[in-house]
Amino acid sequence: MKDVVIIGAGVTGTSVAYNLSKYAGDFLVVEKHSDVCEETSKANSGICHGGYDAVPGSMKAKMNVEGNHMMEELAKELDFPYERIGTLVLCHKKEDFPKLQALYDQGIENGVGGMKIIYNEEILAMEPNVEKDVYAALLCEEAGIVDPFLMNIAYAEGSNLNGVDYKFNTEITKIEKIDDHYVLISQDGEEIETRAVVNAAGLYSDAIHNQLLNDNKFEVRARRGEYLLLDKATRGFVNHVLFNLPTEKGKGILVTPTIDGNTLIGPTSDFVDDKADTVTTQERIEEVIEKVEDTVENVPVRQVITSFSGNRAHESGGDFILEESQKGFFDCVGIESPGLTSAPAIGKYMANLVKESLGLAENKEFKPGRNPIPKTSEMETPAHNNLIKENPLYGKIICRCEKVTEGEIVDAINRPLGATTVDGVKRRVRATAGRCQGGFCLPSIIEILARELGVDEEEITKKGNNSYYIEKRAK
Ligand SMILES: Cc1cc2nc3c(=O)[nH]c(=O)nc-3n(C[C@H](O)[C@H](O)[C@H](O)COP(=O)(O)OP(=O)(O)OC[C@H]3O[C@@H](n4cnc5c(N)ncnc54)[C@H](O)[C@@H]3O)c2cc1C
Repeated sequence: MKDVVIIGAGVTGTSVAYNLSKYAGDFLVVEKHSDVCEETSKANSGICHGGYDAVPGSMKAKMNVEGNHMMEELAKELDFPYERIGTLVLCHKKEDFPKLQALYDQGIENGVGGMKIIYNEEILAMEPNVEKDVYAALLCEEAGIVDPFLMNIAYAEGSNLNGVDYKFNTEITKIEKIDDHYVLISQDGEEIETRAVVNAAGLYSDAIHNQLLNDNKFEVRARRGEYLLLDKATRGFVNHVLFNLPTEKGKGILVTPTIDGNTLIGPTSDFVDDKADTVTTQERIEEVIEKVEDTVENVPVRQVITSFSGNRAHESGGDFILEESQKGFFDCVGIESPGLTSAPAIGKYMANLVKESLGLAENKEFKPGRNPIPKTSEMETPAHNNLIKENPLYGKIICRCEKVTEGEIVDAINRPLGATTVDGVKRRVRATAGRCQGGFCLPSIIEILARELGVDEEEITKKGNNSYYIEKRAK
């Protein structure tokens, strides 16, 4: 019997796992995909929000501000990229100024620090590409950007190093409560018995909850956001995260540098019926290109290298639901934006609820952190040369756009919860994430994955399931 099973290996589930590993117990994360970070946590703006736009007193406000305040230390502890570059909410017309002031006041009420209101000249000195008639802006210096993939992966690796098991390709299709414990049943009929369950199933957290608790049903709807990603040649086009004043549909089309130096524009906002549908459409891409011009001028759209979309898990109540809904059953429901920013606080909060309910003792062996993969493109030459002496694969560049070596790819595969797919390699070391999007290095990556995993190249997939690259030939 497990002590706790966490359903879902997104940033919420893995943060709960890392925080739970500070306590003694037998913990398991089950995930329906073949890797961590396969749904909403892989497709978002990567912003560490300040917390001025969440309703005061809500769980969103509390978790956002606390998560933001924890992010810098956590990024050092778990070694994932994070930069406090600040956000600017732009007010283009003088008559809208009261809305900006209200946002500032709300931020103060929520406990956000580092905010001030600035005006036209100061804005343009910081951001020369902003629309020239801009009236004022709310600057939040506490806000920043983070690598959403590596944050999720780092949480998973850190928890795994501290004893949490992971079981992939396992979809929980049924949950039963039997006496004082739960039985989780997978798509293959496998049964997992556990004292407690943490529901961190993102878009499907309503379905997991509603199986057990019929009298208090939740409804999570998918609200799709489509983006365009621009090449690193646009580095410096904007220096902060730029928003316009929020509307009832959310934070609108933003422009931001990514942590790796690309420029990201989007997202749109549309409810969709199929929660798994993350296509991008010509209509919405045109909308992004048109609307972004309200914020910045002369957007270098010819530098677009890819488009993608992610689905927000919107619960009808509009707030995060974080609670022990019945003895031993813990819900993380409606974790839409700012769920990434909030993950450190959500993980700590939920792990504490579980510890109190189950009476878990401290894990005296807990070791914070993980072993990062060396990033050779950012190393000084002497240090890189020393690494090459130890292992010549760190001198062989495979991905030319992002300058990723074979050594880094091998490391991404042969580590705790290592990559088994091409996307898994991409999210760990950025091979295929550059300008050519894998057009050049993909065959080499497939070859390395097959060699390291000891399988045929035909078995290698983009992202598990049936996403094969090579048609199987009769032998
Ligand atoms: C367009 C967009 C922009 C955003 N921008 C930001 C931002 O800039 N900053 C910010 O703070 N937040 C942002 N967010 C929100 C943030 O991305 C999410 O809140 C966060 O990633 C949610 O993580 P999660 O782990 O709860 O969900 P997910 O990442 O979706 O993880 C849930 C996991 O559960 C698994 N699962 C589901 N059902 C089952 C089952 N039955 N059995 C086994 N496994 C199951 C899924 O496969 C999935 O891996 C944005 C979201 C979107 C969509």
